Amino acid sequence: MIVFEFKARQPTEEQAKSIDEAIRTSLFIRNKSVALWKNGTSVKRMDLQRNCKVLASQFPWARNLNSMARQAAADRGWSSIKNFYDAVKNGNNPGEHYPKFRKTGRSVEYKTTGWKLDKSCKSIRFTDGFSIGRLRILGTRPLSDFVDIIKRVRIVKRADGYYVQLSIAADRKWEKPPTGRCIGIDLGLRHFYTDSDGNRVGNPRYLSRSLKKLKARQRKLSRSKKRSNRRRKMTNKVARQHLKVSRQRRDFVVKAARALIETNDLVACEDLDVRRMVRDRSYSKGISDVGWGSFIRSLDYFASISGSTLRKVEPAYTTQMCNRCGFTAPKEPSERSHRCACGLVMDRDHNAAINILNKALHSTAGHAETTTLVDIKSSATGPSVTGCKSGG
Ligand SMILES: [Zn+2]
Repeated sequence: MIVFEFKARQPTEEQAKSIDEAIRTSLFIRNKSVALWKNGTSVKRMDLQRNCKVLASQFPWARNLNSMARQAAADRGWSSIKNFYDAVKNGNNPGEHYPKFRKTGRSVEYKTTGWKLDKSCKSIRFTDGFSIGRLRILGTRPLSDFVDIIKRVRIVKRADGYYVQLSIAADRKWEKPPTGRCIGIDLGLRHFYTDSDGNRVGNPRYLSRSLKKLKARQRKLSRSKKRSNRRRKMTNKVARQHLKVSRQRRDFVVKAARALIETNDLVACEDLDVRRMVRDRSYSKGISDVGWGSFIRSLDYFASISGSTLRKVEPAYTTQMCNRCGFTAPKEPSERSHRCACGLVMDRDHNAAINILNKALHSTAGHAETTTLVDIKSSATGPSVTGCKSGG
C-alpha cells in the first residue's frame, strides 16, 4: 500500500461541520464494535461487520455514513482487539493493550465507494449522507494513473486543517544496486546514532529549536487562565507546534533511514523492545521523544522495498563487550569511552555499533536469510568487519 496525503483547501463551515460529524459517527461505530466484543463471548471480526447493519437500523443518523465506511469503522475496532490478542500471544504486557473506548476521533475512512475524484484529480467529492461535498486538494501528485486502484480514502483532521489520504494498492519497488557494504548502528540519546565506521549522526538543530519553542508555548499555556479565549487560541498554537515538530522529526528520520539503506546491503541495529528493558531503564522517559521507533520502522520499510536486509540483534553486552578481544569492559552509563585491558580505547558507541554489526553477521548461521549474507561476505576481502565494507 502506498499512501498519498494532500492537504484539503479550507472547507466551508458547513463542510467542516459535516466532516466532524462523519468522524464522530465513525468513532461511534468503532466504540460500539469494541463494546460488542467486550460484552460478548468469542466475538469475531465478522460479527462486528454484521453489527454495522444493526447499528444502522438502531441509529438512523449512523446511516448517513457510507456503508463501507461503517465497515471500515468496525474494522478499526477490530484492529484494537487484534492488537490485544497479539499482545496476549507474545506476552507483551496485554493489560496495557486491552481495547479502550476512544473519546475523540481524528479521521474517517472510506473504502471504494462514497467518494469520487474529479477528472483533473484536483478535488474529491464525498457522496454519502453527510453531504460533505467537494473538497479541493492541494499538491501536485500525478494521481490520474492510480484512480482505479485507490482502495481507501481517509479524511484526517489536524490542528492546521483537514487532509485527504488516498491508499493505493501497489507495491513500491526501489531499484537499488547492491553496494557490498554492511553497517551496524548504535542508537543513542547524545547522538541520534553512531555507526560501526565511527560516524555520528546527530539530531538536527532545527528540531531542537522547534522543541524549545514547543516547550515555551506549553509553559505559557499552562499558566493561562482556564476557559479563556486566549487559552483556546494558545491550545491551537501548541497543537500546531506539536505538528511541526512531529513532521520535522518524521522527515529527518525517514531521510536518515533512506540514506542508510541506500548505502548498505545490510543494516544491523538493536531490537528496541528488548533494549528498553536491558539498557535504558534509567532514561526511558526520553525514548519516545527521539523517534527511534519510527526510525526502525522506516529502515524496515526501505529495506523491504529495496531488497536490503535490516537485522535486529539482542542488545545484551553490546556496550560492555570489547569488539577486539571479546572480553567485558564494564562501564558506567556516564562513561563515554571504551577502555579495555587489551589496550583498545575508542568511543563507547562506536564500540557498541561494531559489536551490533558483528552480532548480526554471526547470528545468521543456519538461518534462512544466510544467502543474503553470504553474498555480502563473498564480495569482501576479509572476514573482519571492515573487510565487509571493502566493496564500497
Ligand atoms: Zn579488548
